[in-house]
Amino acid sequence: MQVVFWGTRGSIPVSGPKYVEFGGNTPCLQIKLSSTTDTMIIDSGSGIRELGLQLARTADLHSRAIHLFLTHAHWDHIQGFPFFVPSYIPSFSLDIYCTKDAKAILENQMRTPFFPVTLDAMFAKRGFHLLKSDEVVEIGEAKIRNIPLPHPQESTAFRIDERGHSVVFATDTEHSPDHINETLRELCQGADVLIYDAQYTTEEYRAGKQGWGHSTFMEAIKLARAAGVERLILYSHDPAHDDETLKAIEAAAQREMPNVIAARDGMVVEFD
Ligand SMILES: [Zn+2]
Repeated sequence: MQVVFWGTRGSIPVSGPKYVEFGGNTPCLQIKLSSTTDTMIIDSGSGIRELGLQLARTADLHSRAIHLFLTHAHWDHIQGFPFFVPSYIPSFSLDIYCTKDAKAILENQMRTPFFPVTLDAMFAKRGFHLLKSDEVVEIGEAKIRNIPLPHPQESTAFRIDERGHSVVFATDTEHSPDHINETLRELCQGADVLIYDAQYTTEEYRAGKQGWGHSTFMEAIKLARAAGVERLILYSHDPAHDDETLKAIEAAAQREMPNVIAARDGMVVEFD
């Protein structure tokens, strides 16, 4: 299994010379499974555009079955979907998994006057799957479990287990100030990698960001330690955090826990 980060920014895409190292695309992860050439994707933020172009270009090298999991419907997690090229190509199939009505969500995003073509213009074979909390979906030998996350309108965390390796993706979510989210800790227990919402510093969180639905790198470290997670990846970077700020956040996190990095667009995480 490999995880490719196509978008790591929270809230809204950013661009410009101050964002070159970490990148500016909103959430999109590609999970390259070892047991199948089907493509697994989590979230369709602006990062999914480039992933789609690559999948269309290399269509003969992998299965044309795509499985897209959505954490929730906030703009930054779905805004790239109308630009996802494989969904316009009839030979691809696109199965979309969400705990909410993904068809209605994506249809609404593309309806007039917001976008020039509707969801019906996407000619890939489409299937919509309404996920139940804690339901296990199997793709190849991978098992994908989900739980709800505290966030405005609620988000979803996913854990992927395949051939002895595991990764948890938990964004967007806000921690409780006085206790660890036990359901999330249980989902993360013993995972190789935790990718967690660290949009704010502790100072920013305390200075007015409480209740906005996001967390901090210190809470990420607390959760990783409690769940015995080996590697932590800070995710959902604030659009106000430029490269310099993110490097300082990453260094501060590494002083607390050595095996932490801040996600960058284009980064690939491999499992031994
Ligand atoms: Zn959100």
